[in-house]
Amino acid sequence: MEMIAGYKSPWLDEELEILQDAARKFYEKEFAPHSDRWTKQGHVDRDAWNKAGAQGLLCASIKEEYGGGGGNFGHEMVITQEQARTGVTGFGNSVHSGIVAHYIQSYGTEEQKKKWLPKMASGEMVGAIAMTEPGTGSDLQGVKTTAKKVGNQYVINGQKTFITNGQQSTLICVVAKTDPTAGAKGTSLVMVETEEVEGFRRGRNLDKIGMHAQDTSELFFDDVKVPTSNLLGTEEGKGFFQLMQQLPQERLIIAVQAVVAMERAVELTAAYVKERKAFGKSILDFQNTQFKLAECKTEAAIARVFVDDCAMKLLDGKLDATTAAMAKWWTTEKQCQIVDTCLQFYGGYGYMMEYPIAQMYADARVQKIYGGANEIMKMLIARTL
Ligand SMILES: Cc1cc2nc3c(=O)[nH]c(=O)nc-3n(C[C@H](O)[C@H](O)[C@H](O)COP(=O)(O)OP(=O)(O)OC[C@H]3O[C@@H](n4cnc5c(N)ncnc54)[C@H](O)[C@@H]3O)c2cc1C
Repeated sequence: MEMIAGYKSPWLDEELEILQDAARKFYEKEFAPHSDRWTKQGHVDRDAWNKAGAQGLLCASIKEEYGGGGGNFGHEMVITQEQARTGVTGFGNSVHSGIVAHYIQSYGTEEQKKKWLPKMASGEMVGAIAMTEPGTGSDLQGVKTTAKKVGNQYVINGQKTFITNGQQSTLICVVAKTDPTAGAKGTSLVMVETEEVEGFRRGRNLDKIGMHAQDTSELFFDDVKVPTSNLLGTEEGKGFFQLMQQLPQERLIIAVQAVVAMERAVELTAAYVKERKAFGKSILDFQNTQFKLAECKTEAAIARVFVDDCAMKLLDGKLDATTAAMAKWWTTEKQCQIVDTCLQFYGGYGYMMEYPIAQMYADARVQKIYGGANEIMKMLIARTL
């Protein structure tokens, strides 16, 4: 079903349409059949990463000289969208390719880029970003993890939680204080290759409401020693600035996932209510259903156009933090509302996990929390009033 008659995303060119088709086929053939099993086991199979890498779906927007696909954010959008359309939410590629690889490409030294990016592009390494701690999430300046310089090493101590790809990641970008007395200016990003160090431990694969195939975990660092060359970039104290620079792209990825979820919910529900009968007519024949779904379709269309506009700005290097915050909070709020409205039309079946709308309901809720809670987004926007 078209959300807007004849509409095509302005960033979607012919090359990206080919990628879209290939990505869709890949996710449907290689991932969708395993989705239930992955949901039950709490993580995707490890070789899902290698398969996605071989298909060119990892690091698609990283430069070719570092093993990436040489594309741009349009490539990342297409890959994110097709994964979301298949409903395989557990595969943390948006963190791996959309966030961690971009930190390395944007701030890493030549040596760091050459060392890590090709392995991330192939799926040999899985990336994670570890900001959140048990005591602090929204208020990142309150990070307690320290990376103390001792000779030619950093010694990392601290605890992280809610970390996407927490069980499978082998390359973790850790937000740590290199100078605990200097607040934001004492924050740095330090890369930890988990297979190269002692003192690193993975905690629980956390039991969540939704996104069950995603290994969101606790991580522990006890005197973990890494060479000083693992500091991302060359200068300490740049971590906060580096995080802030990348946030618009990260938030737009969440908004893209939200828009696809809205579109998918409307499509699936429209098909269901045509078939299901009550009181001698289809559920769609009730005017309430028509009006509610008409509202959902309209809002999904508005969200699509806004997010596409943000994508065009990002591709042009002009997406500002405020506009990205608008996209993140509004689309995720609408995603939750629309999925909830749609679920209602399934009656009891909507509450059964065998119906995709139930999984979509469970998966949606976190979108308003991670990537910066929606209240934080509104705070950023309010500053510009
Ligand atoms: C499934 C999942 C995956 C995640 N993946 C990652 C990851 O890969 N890496 C990572 O580092 N983190 C990750 N997170 C953590 C996520 O980013 C944080 O949970 C989020 O930033 C909120 O932090 P918090 O949980 O500490 O909540 P808190 O900071 O304690 O905030 C709780 C609530 O208080 C309110 N609030 C807070 N501050 C303000 C304010 N200034 N004004 C008004 N209201 C406010 C908001 O409603 C907020 O939701 C993930 C979380 C989940 C659930």
